[in-house]
Amino acid sequence: MQNIYQWLPGVDELLLNERIKAIHDVPRQVILDGIRNTLKEYRHQLGVNPERYQHKEELQRDILNDIIKEIARREKPQLRKVINATGIVLHTNLGRALLSGKAWKSVEIAATGYSNLELNLATGHRGSRYAHVEELITRLTGAESCLVVNNNAAAVLLALNTLAKGKETIVSRGELVEIGGSFRIPDVMEQSGSHLVEVGTTNKTYRSDYEQKIGSETSLLLKVHTSNYRIIGFTQETDIKDLVTLGKEFHLPVMHDLGSGSLFDLKGRGIGDEPTVQQIIASGADVVTFSGDKLLGGPQAGIIAGKDQYISLMKKNPLTRALRIDKMTVAALEATLRSYLDMEGALQEIPTLEMLTRPLNVLKEQAQELKALIAKELTSFMDISVEEGVSQVGGGSLPGKYLPTYLVLLKLKKQKVEQFVHALREGEPGVLTYVRDDQVILDPRTVLASQYECLVSALKKGCGGK
Ligand SMILES: *Cc1c(COP(=O)(O)O)cnc(C)c1O
Repeated sequence: MQNIYQWLPGVDELLLNERIKAIHDVPRQVILDGIRNTLKEYRHQLGVNPERYQHKEELQRDILNDIIKEIARREKPQLRKVINATGIVLHTNLGRALLSGKAWKSVEIAATGYSNLELNLATGHRGSRYAHVEELITRLTGAESCLVVNNNAAAVLLALNTLAKGKETIVSRGELVEIGGSFRIPDVMEQSGSHLVEVGTTNKTYRSDYEQKIGSETSLLLKVHTSNYRIIGFTQETDIKDLVTLGKEFHLPVMHDLGSGSLFDLKGRGIGDEPTVQQIIASGADVVTFSGDKLLGGPQAGIIAGKDQYISLMKKNPLTRALRIDKMTVAALEATLRSYLDMEGALQEIPTLEMLTRPLNVLKEQAQELKALIAKELTSFMDISVEEGVSQVGGGSLPGKYLPTYLVLLKLKKQKVEQFVHALREGEPGVLTYVRDDQVILDPRTVLASQYECLVSALKKGCGGK
């Protein structure tokens, strides 16, 4: 028996191979890494299954093909554009909210040039990076004061650390949420150094449950929005207004972690039944936290709004420095918030709001347009139809709420659906869809108007076409 490892070509030999020499504009290091990685992989494979190759030529041909693929893979940026045809507007795995054109323009200005990030141009003295958004946030929410950190989890961490470290925070058992990526709100909270005191049961928590647990160690009453689930049926949750009254009675601050707080009255448009951030502030909550890249439709950020006496303590907390937002976030957030000064304008400018409120007749037209474009190219590969359906909001926002939409359904004639969906995902750009009843489903709600042609050619490639 031959030593099969001797069939493996050497790195120098491969570097002289015509196909590898033909690769241009790729750093030599990338080519070397591609070769070495592939060879390592084959050495491993041959160790596991030495009988796999009977002929040296066959082995060497496969290696060369894999090296070329590996180099191409390494050459491509890891973070790539994808087309979101799932209809899930705030898709956490696909980057949640899309920035508005104006927000993007501001990011570009802040990122590629110097700015007055921390300089007061009127006085020439040092300014605050938060100043650029503070006035807008207090104006829009009605809060006395505010602070912005990296994300909403950080906002919750900072608020609890400042207001309840070494003390107790009372929270309902029905509101101890896991927010995905196996991050549990209770765990984040414990990291703040505050001790969580759980009250009530999963489905019912009354004002009296909170009241009974208030003691000398109590520092904060907390309400958490059950972002990604709904407890339905036999339920009782204590209203924020009741908690505020209770807090006043016992001289305790009341905080509401809204998760996906919205400044826009979606309920007024028939979407969901959640109060706006303004309404929660108006109900008297002392501290309110919410995400920048959920329903707000801006950059990743955590916004803390509320009474000045509490926010000013948070500003002095050393953790604030560790959780601070960068200039691109400041830029994107300022521009996003500015859009809200005119709510109708916000609806047009902020992609998240536009997608959530797009009229059904427009979605129908879009589905039909998409269908026609696909049919022009691919009728021999699939049956294409349009059907009424629903989209999800996603991102732990408006749980249990589905938005009526029109879907494009693809029934493949020749290919297995799994194989097609896999090819779409790995394409350039990748296309994300979902499958139901052996049909591939495209929801036009989250496909940008500029992506239709691109989507059709991706589908074509998924069918094996060019
Ligand atoms: C999403 C969410 C968070 C975390 O917000 P991020 O911005 O993702 O850090 C915290 N609390 C609730 C209730 C949420 O919905």
